[in-house]
Amino acid sequence: MSASNDFILSIEDLTVSFDGFKAVDSLNLYIKKDELRVIIGPNGAGKTTLLDMICGKTRPTAGSIMFRDQELIGMPEYKIVRTGVGRKFQTPSIYENLTVFENLEVSYPTGLSVMGCLTFKRTPEVIERIHKVAEEIDLKEYLDVEGAFLSHGQKQWLEIGMLLMQDSELLMLDEPVAGMSQLERERTAELIKRICKGRSIIVIEHDMEFVSRIADKVTVLHLGKLLAEGSMADIRNNPKVIEVYLGH
Ligand code: ADP
Ligand code: MG
Repeated sequence: MSASNDFILSIEDLTVSFDGFKAVDSLNLYIKKDELRVIIGPNGAGKTTLLDMICGKTRPTAGSIMFRDQELIGMPEYKIVRTGVGRKFQTPSIYENLTVFENLEVSYPTGLSVMGCLTFKRTPEVIERIHKVAEEIDLKEYLDVEGAFLSHGQKQWLEIGMLLMQDSELLMLDEPVAGMSQLERERTAELIKRICKGRSIIVIEHDMEFVSRIADKVTVLHLGKLLAEGSMADIRNNPKVIEVYLGH
């Protein structure tokens, strides 16, 4: 078996230019099965653009994004989701007028549309899954509460739960603790550690205290390129990283 089989995601020479400006430039990134990778870097480093390319929102100019043995470049977004890649955006996009239960229910993958299929989906298997996910995201007591009444942090957790309903093998979270209280940040760190069992997760984050709570391996991006990669301790002591990022 070749070493590449250990990677769920292999990104090679990935580049995208916007009118000649390379937002991501010849990037190589390898994520293992069951790995939790944190990506940090200054604003404009290309972090969000990288996720946009993995999920099919932005088309790269060059390079390759292999998810297991499938090339994701050129695949439409909905197919990438079905292949097992889930992505959470910076702002939560839950259904405010549906309960937590219903938000999770509509996220169960059936290929049907949101409207007109709520009762159709309510099988014992789906209900069991909803309860399991609600437990994982700390919203077990809130199943009957409408989205609109959740705190900002709970909305973020619910959106993570909606991704868990799809049972993605790779989850990508862009700044999951932005706007959260300290307590919510701590609970989110616990939540991420819980859900990373059995799947790979990429987290983009600025809050270094939060990063140090969850990080296994950290990748630092700068000007679209890989600046450093290693353990939290390696990154904290890396002079290049201190100069462009941590020193500020
Ligand atoms: P980060 O998430 O690391 O803060 P981004 O990936 O959002 O950075 O942006 C990287 C750079 O690419 C920024 O300079 C941004 O202005 C630019 N950029 C991102 N998307 C586009 C786009 N669609 N068109 C032009 N420039 C873009
Ligand atoms: Mg960003």
